[in-house]
Amino acid sequence: MNIHEYQAKEVLRSFGVNVPRGHLAQSVGEAVAAADELAGSVWVVKAQIHAGGRGKAGGVRLCKSVDEVKAAAQALLGSVLVTKQTGPAGKEVGKLYVEEGLNIAHEFYLSLLVDREAEAVALVVSPAGGMDIEEVAATESEKIRTFPIRNIDAFEAAEIASFLGLQGDAAGQLNVLLRQLYQAFTEKDAAMLELNPLVLTVEGNLVALDAKFVADDNGLYRQPEIVAMRDLSEEDPREIEAAQYGLNYIQLDGNIGCMVNGAGLAMATMDMIQMKGAKPANFLDVGGGVTVPAVTEAFKLLFSDAQVKAVLVNIFGGIVRCDIIAQGLLEAIKTHPMNVPVVMRLVGTNEDAGRKLVKDAGLDVRWAENLDEAASMAVGAI
Ligand code: GDP
Ligand code: MG
Repeated sequence: MNIHEYQAKEVLRSFGVNVPRGHLAQSVGEAVAAADELAGSVWVVKAQIHAGGRGKAGGVRLCKSVDEVKAAAQALLGSVLVTKQTGPAGKEVGKLYVEEGLNIAHEFYLSLLVDREAEAVALVVSPAGGMDIEEVAATESEKIRTFPIRNIDAFEAAEIASFLGLQGDAAGQLNVLLRQLYQAFTEKDAAMLELNPLVLTVEGNLVALDAKFVADDNGLYRQPEIVAMRDLSEEDPREIEAAQYGLNYIQLDGNIGCMVNGAGLAMATMDMIQMKGAKPANFLDVGGGVTVPAVTEAFKLLFSDAQVKAVLVNIFGGIVRCDIIAQGLLEAIKTHPMNVPVVMRLVGTNEDAGRKLVKDAGLDVRWAENLDEAASMAVGAI
């Protein structure tokens, strides 16, 4: 689960991390009041959306007066920001974060994430942080280093400081910061924590200028404060709907709707569709103990998606019963007519019963005997 930058900074602040002073603003009036309260001579108005790359898309505005803050807020609130990470549809800006502006001497990259292979938290750092980190990763990979960390000791912190070119007091600040970040990461069950940039100011302070926090969904049950930060308006409504029925659904941008049981089979199905020259409209794993209401919901999601031009059902029934899948289809079409071709590959438990239910209902479903045939038929139908 993602949270906003202003919320990530709130979490970091509670662990003692140095972040700029700032206020959330949901209207132009609130933005102006925030700027007045912060005083100073430079402000930064930042669009709060669950996506990065805002700087290059005009979503981070440096302002030299309260009037400029007002103008930036007017321009950003309600606008649609299209960044490298939002996809072409972009994201509507409903919230702003107004911060005090800082004098930046240098921008670093720093992130913490779970390294499953090393069974440790990995710290990724670069002295070349800021908006072009992807470029650095692609062309100057020696400027990015990964340190597996189980605990931060002074020796490790010194090595990291030296790689970043930090000395003296700044190296000391990094030592403290790394401990704070590691503590925040582990105590708050993060999957990823990224500061890009972490800056050294002209005055010599290390400050988290940008912050991204991704929670590990498996830890949410014990993180009520993080759960309370969830902003459903930033999430795909179809994914929210699917999650309520225990379906693993992820919206994609192709036009073949997929319904599969098992994540591995779902991935294989998507690969097969691509090999046949088309693209899946979604990833959907209905899971093992699936019920008729969940299957019904899954079919409704596929049939109501305007980008879906054909549906491919690939069920390898083990724990999942094929007749449950068929019943779900019959339920769904009561409210969501089957107005695109549906190709079904149903094998395994109660396969005959499943096919019979669909045939008896007189539905125009195209039957496939194996995945290869099913993918060809679905791609041929669009
Ligand atoms: P992102 O583009 O979505 O990652 O947004 P960031 O929060 O990283 O901001 C993008 C860039 O805006 C940073 O890399 C900085 O160069 C610049 N920026 C943000 N805040 C300040 C500030 O207080 N002072 C100055 N001078 N630049 C800032
Ligand atoms: Mg950034």
